[in-house]
Amino acid sequence: MRKVFDFHGGIHPTENKHQSVRTPIADAGIPPELIIPLSQHIGAPARPLVAIGERVLKGQMIAEALGFVSVPVHAPTSGTIHAIEDRLIAHPSGYLAPCIVITTDGQDEWEAHSGVLNYRTLETADLISIIRNAGIAGMGGAGFPSAVKLSVKADTPIETLIINGTECEPYITADDALMREQAFEIIEGTKILQQIIGPKSTLIGVEDNKPEGIAALCAAAQGTNIEIVTFPTKYPSGGEKQLVEILTGQQVPSGGLPSEVGVVCQNIGSTVAIFDAVVKGRPLISRVTTVTGESVREPQNFEVLIGTPVQYLIDKAGYQSEKNNRLIMGGPMMGFTIPDTGVPIVKTTNCVLAPSEAELSTPPPAQACIRCGMCAEVCPASLLPQQMFWFAQGKEFEKLEEHNLFDCIECGACSFACPSNIPLVQYYRASKSEILQLRHDHEIAEQSRIRFEARQQRLEQAEQEKEAKRAARKIAAQQRAEAAQESGAEDPIQAAIDRAKIKKAEQQQDGAGDESELHKLEKAIASTAKRLTTATTKLEQAQAEGSDLVGALQTGVDKTREKMAVAKQALNDYQQHLDTRSAEQRPADAAQSAIERAMQARTTEAALSPQEKARVDLKKLQNRLKKTQATLLQSHQNAEEAKVIEALESTVARLTEKINALQPLLNTAEDA
Ligand code: SF4
Ligand code: SF4
Repeated sequence: MRKVFDFHGGIHPTENKHQSVRTPIADAGIPPELIIPLSQHIGAPARPLVAIGERVLKGQMIAEALGFVSVPVHAPTSGTIHAIEDRLIAHPSGYLAPCIVITTDGQDEWEAHSGVLNYRTLETADLISIIRNAGIAGMGGAGFPSAVKLSVKADTPIETLIINGTECEPYITADDALMREQAFEIIEGTKILQQIIGPKSTLIGVEDNKPEGIAALCAAAQGTNIEIVTFPTKYPSGGEKQLVEILTGQQVPSGGLPSEVGVVCQNIGSTVAIFDAVVKGRPLISRVTTVTGESVREPQNFEVLIGTPVQYLIDKAGYQSEKNNRLIMGGPMMGFTIPDTGVPIVKTTNCVLAPSEAELSTPPPAQACIRCGMCAEVCPASLLPQQMFWFAQGKEFEKLEEHNLFDCIECGACSFACPSNIPLVQYYRASKSEILQLRHDHEIAEQSRIRFEARQQRLEQAEQEKEAKRAARKIAAQQRAEAAQESGAEDPIQAAIDRAKIKKAEQQQDGAGDESELHKLEKAIASTAKRLTTATTKLEQAQAEGSDLVGALQTGVDKTREKMAVAKQALNDYQQHLDTRSAEQRPADAAQSAIERAMQARTTEAALSPQEKARVDLKKLQNRLKKTQATLLQSHQNAEEAKVIEALESTVARLTEKINALQPLLNTAEDA
C-alpha cells in the first residue's frame, strides 16, 4: 500500500453522487443544431476553416489552432455550416463569443480517419502532434491544451505521472462513469502518456467513494506499472496541487506548476480522449457529462456531442422546469449559474446540475464577519480568506496579490464553512477578474506608449533630417551667392526666385485688379439701370396724371439714359482691354515664337560693336564649316554624285574665304 498524505483544510459536503450512476452512460443523440465555440480552452481562439453553407463531415477540422497555446475544433457530426457568429456561451458573465453553428443532417457521416493501434512505434513528437490536432484540452478544469502540458522541457525531469480520478465535487460522476465503463481506455491512454513523459512512477489517484470505478481500474491495470492509489474522500482533493500533495507529499510552490516538483497531471476524461485520438484517430468531439439534480426525472451520465444546447440535453434527462430554481454548469461548489438554456456543452462541461429549491436553496443574506477563522481552517491553499475578503471589499489589489490571491483555486470551501454566509469565493473571483483586466489594460497602455514613443522618435528623426537638409541647402545657397558676388555676377538661383516672386505678385495683383474693376463697372450699370427704371416709372405716372412735373422728370430720365450709355461704354472698353491683354499673354505659336526669337536676336546683334559682331559671325562660320566638312567627308565615303561633292567643296571654300576675311577685323580688335 502506497503511503498517502493529507493537505491542509478541506470540507465534507453531502456528496449526492449516487443518483447519476445508477444507469450506464447514455448516448444523448444528435440535436438539430450544434453551437461550437471557437474558444473552449485556455489560449488563443481557433480560426475557422469553413464557410457558411459548406457541408462538413463528422470529425472534420472546422477551426485550426492559432498559436502554440491553442487547440483546433472539429465537427461533432455531419451537417451544414449555418453560421459563424457570436452566440451566448456558458460563462459566469453570460457573454457572447464567436461560434460555428452547424445544422446537423442526422447522417452522422464520418470523415475518413484512422488511428495507430501500435502507438509504441510512434515518436514522442508524433504523439504530441496527434493529441494537439485532435483538439484535446484539459476536460476536468480550465481547458489547458494537453499537448502544451505534455511538452515538458528537457531540463524539467518528470518523476511522476498522475492521472486525476478524484472527482471530488458533489453530484458529478462523469469520471466515475468512465472508470466503470472505460477502464481499458484509461489504462491504454495512461500508457501513451507514459511513453510521452517517461516517468519513474505512474499513479491514478481516486477517492475511496468510487469502489466500482476503483475495481474496474485495478482489473485493467493488472500486469502494468500503473498504480491505482485510493485515499479518503475530502473536498477538494481533486485540486491539482492538493492531489500532488496527497500522492507525493510535496507542495507545489505558490504560483508554480506541478512540473516544478517533477509531476505532470492529466484528467481521466483527457486520458480517454488521448487514447481515442491516438488509437482510433478520433478527435475530441464529444464528452461524458453528468445531468443531475432533483429537477430531472432521470439523472445520469450522457455521451454528449460538443456544441449540444443545454436545453436539448436536460430534456433527455426529463427536465422539470417547474421544480428547478436555477441551472448550474459544473458542481454546486465550483459551478456557475448559466444565463440561458440555449448555451452549448463545451469540452470542459462535466456536469449540468438542475437542483430543486429544497435541494440547493438560495443562500440566506450575508451577515457581518465574526472573525471565527473557520474559512482559514478549511482553505486547502493555506490562504487567509478573511483578510482577503477585507482587501477585496476595499479593492486593495496589491495587498490581495501579496496574500497570494492567485493561489486560490476557487473551491468555495471557505464560503461553505462561513457561519456568516459570506460569499467569499465570489469576492475572490471578482477581484481576480478585475486584476486581470487591469493587467490587460496596463499591457495595452504600455504597448500604446511604446508605439507612441517610437512614432515620436521617428517623427523627430525625420524632422532632424529635414532640418539638416534645409541647413545644407542654405549653406550651399550662401556659398553660391558669395561666389557670385566675388565674380561680380548675380546669384542665378536667387535671381530666379526673385523673378518668380515678382511674377506671382503681379499676376495676383492683376487678377484682383481685373476682378474689382469689372465688378465696379457692372455695379455702376446695375445701379444706373435701377435708377432709370424708377425715373421712367415716375415719368409715366406723371404723364398719365398730366402732372406739371413731366418736363423735369423727362430731363432726369434723359440724363440717366446718358449715364447708362457712358457706363456701358466703359464696361465695353474695359472688356476689350482685357481681351487684348489676354491675347498678348497667350502663348505664341511656334512660328510666331521663332520670329520673335529672331527679332530679338537681331536687336541683340544690332547692339553689338563691330568686333563683337565679327567674333559672333566667326563662331557661326566656323560651326558651319565644321559641319560642311563632315558632310563632305561622308559624301566621299559614300561615293556620292560628283555634283553633290562639288557643291559641298564650293561651300567649304566659300566659308573658308569668309572666315579669312573676318580675321583682320578680329586682329585689329585684339590689338586695340
Ligand atoms: S468564516 Fe466567515 S465569519 Fe468566520 S472569519 Fe471567515 S469570513 Fe469571517
Ligand atoms: S475558495 Fe480560495 S480562499 Fe476559499 S477555501 Fe478555496 S482556495 Fe481557499
